[in-house]
Amino acid sequence: MISSFLADGAASLVSVAGRGESSMQNLTTTAMAIVAAILFILALKWLSAPSTARRGNLAGEIGMTVAILGALLGYHILRYEWIIVGFTIGAMIGAPMAIWMSMTAVPQRTALSHACGALAAALVGTAHYYLYFQPGAAVPQRITMAILCIEVILGALTFTGSLMAFGKLQDLLPARPTLYRGQNVLNFLILGAALATGVLLTLHPTMRVLFPILLGLATLFGVLLILPIGGADMPTVIALLNSYAGLSASMMGFVLNNRLLIIAGALDGASGLILSIIMCRAMNRSFANVLFGAFGQVQASAASAEKKSVRRTTAEEAAQVMEAAASVIIIPGYGMAVAQAQHKVRDLYDQLTNRGVDVKFAIHPVAGRMPGHMNVLLAEAEIPYDRLIEMDEINADFPQCDVALVIGANDVVNPAARHDKSSPIYGMPIINADRAKTVMAIKRSMNPGFAGIENELYTADNCLMLFGDAKTVVAGVAKELAEAAKSN
Ligand code: NAP
Repeated sequence: MISSFLADGAASLVSVAGRGESSMQNLTTTAMAIVAAILFILALKWLSAPSTARRGNLAGEIGMTVAILGALLGYHILRYEWIIVGFTIGAMIGAPMAIWMSMTAVPQRTALSHACGALAAALVGTAHYYLYFQPGAAVPQRITMAILCIEVILGALTFTGSLMAFGKLQDLLPARPTLYRGQNVLNFLILGAALATGVLLTLHPTMRVLFPILLGLATLFGVLLILPIGGADMPTVIALLNSYAGLSASMMGFVLNNRLLIIAGALDGASGLILSIIMCRAMNRSFANVLFGAFGQVQASAASAEKKSVRRTTAEEAAQVMEAAASVIIIPGYGMAVAQAQHKVRDLYDQLTNRGVDVKFAIHPVAGRMPGHMNVLLAEAEIPYDRLIEMDEINADFPQCDVALVIGANDVVNPAARHDKSSPIYGMPIINADRAKTVMAIKRSMNPGFAGIENELYTADNCLMLFGDAKTVVAGVAKELAEAAKSN
């Protein structure tokens, strides 16, 4: 999602700059724009693998700095003080967000960033429109007006949509889907009205009264779009909003004739769309199901899991079983993130590998609540990247695996996805933990995960439950192994 920060940043910058390039300035700006664009593309490429992600971050940061300097050089700046005020306010909001918001809060942090970028795009579009009414200003061409309308619609709906997503993820708003009769029809009517207003404005740009109506309808649509979507679906929606914010910034680039904005916005738009497609595929759900499916309502069957018998075990017994194993595959999930257990998982990994146990991590593409959630946490605990194996590559290894250790994962290891056609997760590719010789699952209770359904894995004959907070339980198992090592 770094591209969104790039596009958002560029959007904010252009919003305070005037125009008027000389040919020398133009050359310098073009050269800097090309360097920045190349760095943005490299950043996205490097960010796609954990081993190069830090380099990708750095490339993005340098690219953004080059883009800012290029814009400052290339534009005739009217008021520097407003740029300084803008930077100061932005830094005062951005720095605390980066420093104090925890890893588990990254989805809502991203939503806030999109809200800011989209607001900048909508405001620039609005300011640009009203500039046409200055004395002596030419009436905008239809094509410019059409692009400006798209920019403002996307910017405004992404602004309110992202704020709603932030509110749901931060528990400021009810996370459950809010539903009412005729909801989808009303939403489509409002979107249709916004688009129709945009067409009218394109045909009659001087009808000023239409512009606030366009803004109002798009802003309202952003709120209504998010209402029926459950809090846990927000990461997918945020990736989609990321895409809208990028497209809005790209449109702004066309309106302002700024090449870098066009490129950064297009990269942002495309990467957000690709990310949301990957997430939908990994959940075996369509865009329509995410946007209109009201996923996340509590399922009636969820509570019945308590009644089925489960086999419990203790940290001591778990340590003994793992000590005797030749191979252990750890499957992390959202619960590991909630418990912040990654460093204790690293201790456990060290204890086991020191004894010659082959330890690997099976990574499901949508484990946790954001793309790459598990990779980020395990990288933070400095678990070697080559031990993190993608689901498709590791699934064939389970029948030969002695212990599958499930740490706070639920839906991504639920065998119902393979055979239960009535299950909401039917068809979702899962990690085949149930096919290991022994399964151990760490969680606090028999409560369901994100999909709100019970998991037959926990009542399977080869499954032992380790109830408790993931951090405490994993620490307990690692301690048992360490003590056993001392006494040997
Ligand atoms: P999950 O199905 O949500 O299950 C997480 C489990 O962790 C829960 O059953 C919970 O059980 C346990 N847990 C919570 N806190 C814990 C703690 N402190 N210690 C131990 N256990 C704890 O998680 P998942 O298997 O990772 O699956 C992710 C789900 O999110 C999928 O359905 C996916 O489609 C969805 N999703 C993912 C993304 C993404 O980008 N990754 C985006 C949108 C949706 P207890 O309460 O009993 O402890």
